[in-house]
Amino acid sequence: METGEKINRGLKALEEKVLDRNLCTACGACLSLCPYLRSWKGRVVKLDDCNLEEGRCFAYCPRTEVDLDEIYQTVFGKNYEEIDVGPARKIMMARAKNPIWRKKAQTGGVVSSLVDFALREKIIRAGILTPRDGDLLPYGQIIRGRKGILSAAGSSYVSGPTLEALNRGAWKGQERIGIVGLPCQVLALARMKTSKLEKKTPIDQVNLVIGLFCTWALDYKPFMAFLQDRVDGRSIKKLNITPPPERIFEVLAGNKLYRISVDGIRPFIRPSCRVCLDMTAELSDLSIGTVEGKEGWNTVIVRTAMGENLLKRAKRAGVIETRPLSKNNLNHLKEASLLKKRRVLDALNEKGGIEKAYFTLSPQLIKRILSESGESLT
Ligand SMILES: Cc1cc2nc3c(=O)[nH]c(=O)nc-3n(C[C@H](O)[C@H](O)[C@H](O)COP(=O)(O)OP(=O)(O)OC[C@H]3O[C@@H](n4cnc5c(N)ncnc54)[C@H](O)[C@@H]3O)c2cc1C
Repeated sequence: METGEKINRGLKALEEKVLDRNLCTACGACLSLCPYLRSWKGRVVKLDDCNLEEGRCFAYCPRTEVDLDEIYQTVFGKNYEEIDVGPARKIMMARAKNPIWRKKAQTGGVVSSLVDFALREKIIRAGILTPRDGDLLPYGQIIRGRKGILSAAGSSYVSGPTLEALNRGAWKGQERIGIVGLPCQVLALARMKTSKLEKKTPIDQVNLVIGLFCTWALDYKPFMAFLQDRVDGRSIKKLNITPPPERIFEVLAGNKLYRISVDGIRPFIRPSCRVCLDMTAELSDLSIGTVEGKEGWNTVIVRTAMGENLLKRAKRAGVIETRPLSKNNLNHLKEASLLKKRRVLDALNEKGGIEKAYFTLSPQLIKRILSESGESLT
């Protein structure tokens, strides 16, 4: 490059560094901000060139120039240094008390019941959730009541453009917004917060972020083609993954339960998940996943004062119940989370160096991640 030539940080760079390399997570952060990008069956597609040298599409993307220390400083006031499950005030297990949530929900219904409670208590005025259409394609939806929460409950294991709803929404004044998202999505939200570009998205109104644990998400188009073949065209009602050591992908289609080995669906994991460091959605107020071996219970990581306050109020109001998480479960969680980070660093090392990655990490931290085990951290 000639001296003085500006480095592109716009759509051109997004295309070269993310879209063309198949590293897009389909989070939706770049959508509905400009006329050139669209979502198509779980992919972000470029419609035309853009000659801006800097763009929000690049600045908000969770796979471009992520300065982890800067982001963690903004969200938690400290560097990226808690390498197992990220900053945590408390870790416990919980479940919704009202059976309507547990019936529709993926696990213990804590996510849905907390969004419902936050709306009823006016802690938030709107939520952004991820329902699926009739063909199981996820999309971001603004919800303002229980009906919307119930229709979004459950997991699709396919990633979709949740955050487009934040950019696209016809927001009413300064209303407070709560968002439920995957680790890549909560990272994109934190990038929106830290970006110095003029904001066209109401990120400053987002006052509640609930993150979902995620080991990987699937690529919609090839996965659906595979699944439709397996379920003989029956309509798919629920997807579930059983805990280790079994690890079976269960598909309830029509009235029939299909059981597929998780290894059988690995080819459909998005390549962008293989470079993701985050299993527990660290940049959230509350992070929520399943509890291994405890059906109907969620693991909950409380990370911020906002998260702690919401959980305390919901418990006091009888919306959720909590129990301590066993030492064994906690160790497994930490080990699984560290393993995800280690795999990424190992793979990047093999492919020619961590310094070329989309994130920056100090050599000391890389060494710690590669050497520590979950149990030594408890
Ligand atoms: C792609 C994916 C991978 C996951 N991997 C793991 C894992 O490895 N380990 C683990 O413990 N848990 C994982 N989970 C989380 C788990 O499936 C449950 O969502 C979580 O335990 C919360 O349970 P719940 O009963 O409280 O959720 P519910 O009350 O059913 O609420 C679930 C919420 O998830 C949102 N949602 C559903 N699908 C998506 C999506 N594709 N993108 C963004 N948001 C979505 C919906 O808006 C809904 O509000 C994963 C979820 C997804 C979507």
